Amino acid sequence: MRHARPPARPGDAAPQAQIGTEVIRRLAAQRDLERFFELAAAEAARVLHADGAALIETDGTEQLRYRFFQGLPDDYRRLATGFRFARDEGTAGQALRLGTPVYTPHYAASSHALPDFVRSGLCANLVVPVGPADDRRGVIALAWFGQAPAHAPDSAQLAVVEMVADLVYWALHRQRLELSLEQQARHDPLTGLPNRRYLLERLDAMLRRHAGTPPLALAWLDLDGFKPVNDLHGHEQGDAVLGLFAERLRTAVREGDFVARLGGDEFAVVLCDVHDEQELHELLRRLSSGLERPYRLRGGVSVRCPPSIGAAWARDGDAESLLRDADRAMYLAKGRHRTGQAAWRVFASPAPEPGTHETDSALPGTLELHYQPVFDLETRVVVRVESLARLRRQGRLLAPAEFLGALDLRQQRRLLDAVLETALGQLAQWERQGLHGLSVSINAEPYALGDADLAQRIATLLQQHGLHASRLTLEILERGALLGREATVRQLTLLRAMGVRLAIDDLGTGHSSLLRLRSLPIDEIKLDRAFVRDIARNLQDIAFVRSVRELAHGLRVELVAEGAENPDVIGVLRALGVRQVQGWGIAREVPAAALPRLLAQLAQWQPQVADAALALAYAHHLNLDSHILGLLRNAPAQLRATDAAEPVQHQLETTLRQVPRAWQLYRRQRILLADMARHHELDLRLPIRRYRQLGESLRECLALAARSGAQLCCTTTDNSGA
Ligand code: C2E
Ligand code: CA
Ligand code: CA
Repeated sequence: MRHARPPARPGDAAPQAQIGTEVIRRLAAQRDLERFFELAAAEAARVLHADGAALIETDGTEQLRYRFFQGLPDDYRRLATGFRFARDEGTAGQALRLGTPVYTPHYAASSHALPDFVRSGLCANLVVPVGPADDRRGVIALAWFGQAPAHAPDSAQLAVVEMVADLVYWALHRQRLELSLEQQARHDPLTGLPNRRYLLERLDAMLRRHAGTPPLALAWLDLDGFKPVNDLHGHEQGDAVLGLFAERLRTAVREGDFVARLGGDEFAVVLCDVHDEQELHELLRRLSSGLERPYRLRGGVSVRCPPSIGAAWARDGDAESLLRDADRAMYLAKGRHRTGQAAWRVFASPAPEPGTHETDSALPGTLELHYQPVFDLETRVVVRVESLARLRRQGRLLAPAEFLGALDLRQQRRLLDAVLETALGQLAQWERQGLHGLSVSINAEPYALGDADLAQRIATLLQQHGLHASRLTLEILERGALLGREATVRQLTLLRAMGVRLAIDDLGTGHSSLLRLRSLPIDEIKLDRAFVRDIARNLQDIAFVRSVRELAHGLRVELVAEGAENPDVIGVLRALGVRQVQGWGIAREVPAAALPRLLAQLAQWQPQVADAALALAYAHHLNLDSHILGLLRNAPAQLRATDAAEPVQHQLETTLRQVPRAWQLYRRQRILLADMARHHELDLRLPIRRYRQLGESLRECLALAARSGAQLCCTTTDNSGA
């Protein structure tokens, strides 16, 4: 028997021929691809009594190369490392061609044997393809040296190897997804500018390269009066201001300066080659006056949003502290427009700026917490509330944007302590008032998480209030590489072991890195509102949100989408199967006293009809395509070319008919599908690729229609999720 699958004999499953549950648990927790492969391969080798295994990957060309090894002799590894061969060569090529496992009991005698490997002592191997027919990623090769096995692998053993191949495929797929998300995660979708994350990367590289020469400064710009524009004229007008400001900023800087959007109404410029204080002030003056002009918006509205600017010189610190210095300087420049003073400041160090509380750990105001529900769209239940800090100072209530940047490290720790105490005390009080089982999440900067006794302090607080640890979630606002710090990671790991939930906040803004997901034991990710708020208009974001949902699903973490601002966004999120949402479309944050009433109101919450037919069609079509492509990959025999059998599909078609080009593409997809259903036993690789392309063009066409503001005559009334 050479390339046939050994016939299954009933009842011949060896008792150990399955993957232990412990191994599956360890695999699920494993984020490192190489370790993942080693664990999985070791398990397969154990079940088959093989010496070891290798992952041989296709490299995008027509070649195969060795990627990972597990438990193979050194000679063989040395030979195989960097070894490439044609995709149809060897027993690997044979398995790829046939699309089934290939067992070769006498390797040396096989016509497919590669002479080098015969010389290395390879006796027998079992090669199993990795990935579905239209996305083959390579093979797993189990190998025997010295002595070939007495029997061919039985069906149960084969099933284990195939399962391992599936797991490895999924891990590779996840890695690919993460890479593409990383790419998308480096730019701000609204202005197209590099985002905070990208800025930090660039700064870090520049600081390392130049080590202070030629001198480098960073300017932090924050728009004055931006929030009222949003509140009074709506987010569309707000976005327009941000877009126009980004344009002006780009043209106002010198060639070679690096402009980025930090998030919200905050921007930064890396000023290269600035030689002295005087030159810096001159640059800032020019920037400031060039960016003062009012903005003319649609509807004849004119608004003024001049920036307050803070700048700091790069010293030997890292990018993160440079950003922080600039931010502090900006805070001191805030409000100077109104008094007619120059609206920029340069950070002076090491002497503290007058007016800041560098040595005083007290907070610059009295803490008040507001709470905003996180809502499950499916069960219609509030799953937890997020606490949002406010500081009351001289009768005014300051939002985080107005005070966070000015806090020093000690004040940040003070804030974290105060928030923990207030929020957990509040939770206990609600419990006594009959609001049972509510959970709370609090925001924490990793700066504040490094204390060696943090986990202990939290444990004590929880105990004092009689609360189980799982009622508390820490939303970690990751900035820069801080989470990499050992002390922080140690505290977080301890907290997690206690049962406290951990969430990565603001995913996608560049504050938070996807890479962290792998290094931390996370329970939840919060997709930043920047990616969600506009999905009803920016349809490409729908695909992004969906892939984040898939990623969360694959990592087995919960996903919360922020920025569910209105029924349209909520409708699209439901269609995408995103269950947990937070945003003004559900509820704004409220003071503690108002929460019981808000929860009572939310118990009656009904989704309003979304008016975003194109966005819903985009989401439904994405779901449909992914379902069909899954079938094509795994069970083409089950294909049925149904037309509008489901209500959701009927709704989709009603919308598509109104966008002629999209409708035409859709019909072509249907025809192709009917054809594939009839001939599902044939090689479908080409038609599948075509099908995928048609789908992508169709969705591009919908996105274009939405961008050009197309109005559909009859929007749908059925607003149910998919
Ligand atoms: P975040 O963690 O992303 O918190 C959500 C913010 O989004 C809140 O702003 C909330 O008012 C706002 N928001 C909620 N729903 C919507 C919506 O539908 N549309 C829009 N446009 N915005 C919405 P807030 O309270 O100003 O907080 C801003 C940020 O300040 C928070 O962002 C968080 O990063 C930070 N923060 C808040 N409280 C604390 C705290 O206690 N400690 C620390 N270290 N940071 C905090
Ligand atoms: Ca948060
Ligand atoms: Ca956020």
